[in-house]
Amino acid sequence: MDFRSKADAYLDALAKDISALCRINSVEGEAKPGMPFGEGPAKALEEALRMGRELGFKTENFDNYVGHIEFGEGEEMVGILGHVDVVPAGEGWERDPWGGEIADGRIWGRGTLDDKGPVLTCLYAMKILKDMNIPLKRRVRIILGTNEETNWGCMDYYLNKVKPELPTLAFSPDSEFPVTYAELGMLQYTLTRPLTEDLEIEGGNAFNAVPSIAKVALPAELGETLKKEISESEDPSIYSVEEKDGKQILVTRGVGAHAAHLQEGKNAVSYMMELLGRLPLTGELAEVVNFYNEHFGTCLYGEKMGIAVSDEVSGPLTLNVGMISSKDGKLVLSCDSRIPVSIQVSDIEAKVNERIAKAGYTMEVASIEQPLYVAKDSELVQTLMNAYKTVTGDTQSQPMASGGATYSRTMKNCVAFGCLLPDQVDTMHQANESLELDKLKIWLEVMTEAIYQLAK
Ligand SMILES: [Zn+2]
Repeated sequence: MDFRSKADAYLDALAKDISALCRINSVEGEAKPGMPFGEGPAKALEEALRMGRELGFKTENFDNYVGHIEFGEGEEMVGILGHVDVVPAGEGWERDPWGGEIADGRIWGRGTLDDKGPVLTCLYAMKILKDMNIPLKRRVRIILGTNEETNWGCMDYYLNKVKPELPTLAFSPDSEFPVTYAELGMLQYTLTRPLTEDLEIEGGNAFNAVPSIAKVALPAELGETLKKEISESEDPSIYSVEEKDGKQILVTRGVGAHAAHLQEGKNAVSYMMELLGRLPLTGELAEVVNFYNEHFGTCLYGEKMGIAVSDEVSGPLTLNVGMISSKDGKLVLSCDSRIPVSIQVSDIEAKVNERIAKAGYTMEVASIEQPLYVAKDSELVQTLMNAYKTVTGDTQSQPMASGGATYSRTMKNCVAFGCLLPDQVDTMHQANESLELDKLKIWLEVMTEAIYQLAK
């Protein structure tokens, strides 16, 4: 089916709606009565549902946790899982992150790519199918969450309290084209040991990010040795030393990255520990440094923890130390592993636990996500690949495996599909998030074709 002229005709209206939805700051806020994740997410949900009604669809709001926009008839249903909450704007914007400005051929603002732009694109795809009166045998339902960027409390409520009808086939437009058919399992945990000495060591700020900076206070008498070891290290430029209250503060600067793409980063904590391992340290700091270098080091794949494993679909397991802190008489390391789809997450948990218990550390699991895997030759993956290829003419790109996590892993028969195109700049979660209008046009055409193929 050729949807190009329809996609062209709706581009302006779609861009305006994306701009309007991005003007609502929907970062998670303090819970209020009837607004479980604060005002922003609830407002954004109501606005998206209003846009759905405006275009002639039925909507439903489940206590501001999750909303539906539904179209069509039929026993079975195609699900589209997205979210209207966003991550904070952060620093470094050249335009107002909450302005929804349309300029230079783009829509600018937090949420344009993740995930307001993609979900509204799917809404307009439904509108095109509705306009054209094409007979479809499955209903289509957009399912909008409001707490995706933090802890998925919306999906938890939806699946366990609302207990909705589940889609026969579904996708989540919250990643990249073409199709992500495997998402690695995820295990986040802390490793803690007691401290009696007053250590000052810190680095990183999240489980799922590679720390870009780490600091440690060292005794003044180590000053000369420290300088010598820095000058002899592989990359002296990442280290600097400041003096404070008679102590030497060693600052290590790495490169931040998402834990799903460890290879793109350089872990400041690991490189700090490597240098510390070459200093004549004593006491608890020496113990911590030895533990770190024996169990983590600068490797990325859990080799030193004894959990290195890989499979053909997923590639290797990864292990990131996202944070280190010393306070209240405790040293805490916060870790994140992405685990190949053929491996049980609980096996990795057990192995880590056994290893670190011997060294006097205790493990506490913060979060577990089971892996997602839908066969490449399934109806779902094949149909989506087909729709993507038909519209874009891209026959090179293949279905992918990813360490990232989308809502698609919350349901059976669901994969991530779109919306970043292979040649599109990824500004999700970054400064200057923006969406090119010529890319948006392709998105709309691909989504219309995909929904049509899945529902017909
Ligand atoms: Zn997202």
